[in-house]
Amino acid sequence: MHPGTFEYLSAESVDHALDLLADHPDAEMLAGGQSLLPAITNDEADPDVVVDIGEIDAIRGVEVRNDVVEIGAATTYAELQDAERLRNDAAALAEAVSVIGDEQVRNRGTIGGNLAHPVRVSDLSAAVIASDATIVTKGPHSERRITAAEFFAPNPATDLAADELLTSVDVPISTVNTGGAYVKQQSVTMRYSLLGVAARLTVEGGQVSTVRVAANGVTERGVGLEPVEDALRGERLGADTVETAASRALDGIGTEALIDDDQASAAYRADLLPTYTEQALERAAERAGVDVSA
Ligand SMILES: Cc1cc2nc3c(=O)[nH]c(=O)nc-3n(C[C@H](O)[C@H](O)[C@H](O)COP(=O)(O)OP(=O)(O)OC[C@H]3O[C@@H](n4cnc5c(N)ncnc54)[C@H](O)[C@@H]3O)c2cc1C
Repeated sequence: MHPGTFEYLSAESVDHALDLLADHPDAEMLAGGQSLLPAITNDEADPDVVVDIGEIDAIRGVEVRNDVVEIGAATTYAELQDAERLRNDAAALAEAVSVIGDEQVRNRGTIGGNLAHPVRVSDLSAAVIASDATIVTKGPHSERRITAAEFFAPNPATDLAADELLTSVDVPISTVNTGGAYVKQQSVTMRYSLLGVAARLTVEGGQVSTVRVAANGVTERGVGLEPVEDALRGERLGADTVETAASRALDGIGTEALIDDDQASAAYRADLLPTYTEQALERAAERAGVDVSA
């Protein structure tokens, strides 16, 4: 076979895709094609078989079940932007989706494709960790439900096995007085982020009852910023508490783990992280009904 040529197979269901993957273990899944097709064009990938999963209805769309927004893995960013429930109930993820690439990328790219094999600066890893999302996968023998934090823990890979399909992303619905946000510094030369921070917090009786903060573009994969969360939990939200908490953003991250590449040095990323953490917290607080700008 010539490089760049491959057998194209279209999956009609998740089980069909898994059967095709079992028959062709080195096959690539084609969802939106926004990473795979450039990789093939640039000779970075040379699959013999490509299995198209983009038309499987069962893993496409957004549904609200009980207190969870279930997002099918093959749902495009554009479809997510149109989903009102996502904007209202999962603001950090909705905001992260809205700043990905350009309209063309958002029309084709999918949430599953972004999370399955993310590049180090993908925007969604921080947002799913901060949203306390569950990643659902299906393999030949079983379905697995993995917390987003655990999914990205096997840094630099993910917890997705080679014979599995990512089928959905389940996001808990925000309760009253909850706000979420995602802020990013865009790379000057690429549309990807240099660094992004997602935050989600709930305020009860003036105090922070739950808080999740995570960053991407700092280490190889999205990483939770637990020291920031610890500094906020139980505290009364104000400019001082937010600034103090954000100043702890680097506390749990070893300097050797920081990305240092041709886009930005590790020192620059370390400088940016507390500032973007503060911005994400301020915006999330505002959406939770607390003005911390004063
Ligand atoms: C110009 C440009 C700008 C971009 N800017 C950004 C940006 O700002 N932020 C950002 O985060 N991303 C950005 N991207 C990347 C984009 O978001 C990709 O679409 C995304 O990373 C991959 O999603 P996809 O559906 O296109 O996957 P595909 O390209 O179809 O697949 C990518 C990989 O994931 C695997 N895969 C796909 N779906 C599944 C699944 N359900 N289960 C298991 N494996 C699966 C495939 O086998 C393949 O290896 C950009 C891309 C381009 C071309």
